[in-house]
Amino acid sequence: MSELTKILLDESEMPTQWYNIVADLPEPPPPPLHPGTHEPATGEDFAALFPKALIEQEMSQERYIDIPGEVLDVYRLWRPSPLFRAHRLEKLLDTPAKIYYKYEGVSPAGSHKPNTAVPQVWYNAQEGIRKLTTETGAGQWGSSLAFACAQFGLESEIWQVAASYRAKPHRRTMMEVWGGKVHPSPSDLTEFGRSLLAQDPDHPGSLGIAISEAVSEAIEDPKTRYALGSVLNHVLLHQTIIGEEALLQMAKVGAVPDVIVGCTGGGSNFGGLAFPFLREKLKGNMNPVIRCVEPTACPTLTKGQYRYDFGDTAGLTPLMKMHTLGASFIPEPIHAGGLRYHGMAPLVSHVYNLGLVEAIAIPQTECFAGALQFARSEGIVPAPEPTHAIAAAVREALACKESGEEKTILTALCGHGHLDLASYDKYMAGGMEDLDLSDEVIAEAMKGVPNIV
Ligand SMILES: *Cc1c(COP(=O)(O)O)cnc(C)c1O
Repeated sequence: MSELTKILLDESEMPTQWYNIVADLPEPPPPPLHPGTHEPATGEDFAALFPKALIEQEMSQERYIDIPGEVLDVYRLWRPSPLFRAHRLEKLLDTPAKIYYKYEGVSPAGSHKPNTAVPQVWYNAQEGIRKLTTETGAGQWGSSLAFACAQFGLESEIWQVAASYRAKPHRRTMMEVWGGKVHPSPSDLTEFGRSLLAQDPDHPGSLGIAISEAVSEAIEDPKTRYALGSVLNHVLLHQTIIGEEALLQMAKVGAVPDVIVGCTGGGSNFGGLAFPFLREKLKGNMNPVIRCVEPTACPTLTKGQYRYDFGDTAGLTPLMKMHTLGASFIPEPIHAGGLRYHGMAPLVSHVYNLGLVEAIAIPQTECFAGALQFARSEGIVPAPEPTHAIAAAVREALACKESGEEKTILTALCGHGHLDLASYDKYMAGGMEDLDLSDEVIAEAMKGVPNIV
């Protein structure tokens, strides 16, 4: 049995509940705050942005939340997703370690993002919302939301970070195929966008800026809401379907992870994979080391501070306690566009602060070196973001080769890189550089973070 390559679940074995880790943490996470009063935010403070059902999930203490039937029906288009044992990569690395990866690139959009796009659109549809606005960096989230909106008949309007809009025209096409309306950000459609374009007509944009634009459009129209693809509690909640399936799949082959590694941009694929395993760890059923992996060019956990900060650059969102590089921070244009965000999910920041998970940062050339090893052995071309998780798994497997330990390593291959081939071109042509971040640049961006103890 343990020699299987692809470990599958039947549709009938697909989990029907999401897991809310808040119910099991030794300390509750600090609440979001109203940006004006600095008092704990209430549901009302989010009401212009999100539907009631999602606000309830955002604040929920319930351990398990039922996945609505119509959401399960859409999930079945690609779920349960496969768990692979990386026999060929293990052989290439000549390691005694066993490497498993949960593959989320089988979704229509090619990543884990539809796991939350589908329920977010469904809950909005139930409350009569007609249109959703959002931002997208690499294009993965925008395409996922456009796909989900097409499933339930909603319109989608998407602000794509300008640097990515120019570099990745096929992602824009994909969003348009699913009926999405796409703008480069900064755009001339919002006051904030116009002010930035006045300073620099070639502004590269950032996720924080694109969020500000999408939010400001949503709050003007009562039939429009905003959707966020990462960071928030309800997003991580929806992604736990990844870890719940992986638990069942590992159990099928009698495998228990010693190390779990996941790439962290806003923290959603990491939380989705890791939190169900963290539940088992807190219960004493297993004891894996759980490690976040981020780019050295955007080291939110390893170099950011744990402070209250805004989720967007213009300061429109409630304040969240999270590891942050400062809401005005504009990361270097590394290829892993999905990891270029100034903050980290409050839940991931909280479990990191409690010492329940670790974090490391890896430079992008090491990530692409690992990605080539992976593609040439396992076949799948990874998205630039999970190359960070792969590089971390490779590091761990090579350490096992040194020590002779037979550790079981688990990671999420959260997306494929078919629309990111330009970054592979650049790497193979020798033109990719590692972008390190100076302490001065971080200190400058941190100056704008509100002073809340
Ligand atoms: C969006 C994205 C990420 C980063 O977001 P998380 O919330 O940290 O998961 C990572 N990988 C892929 C493929 C993405 O699309």
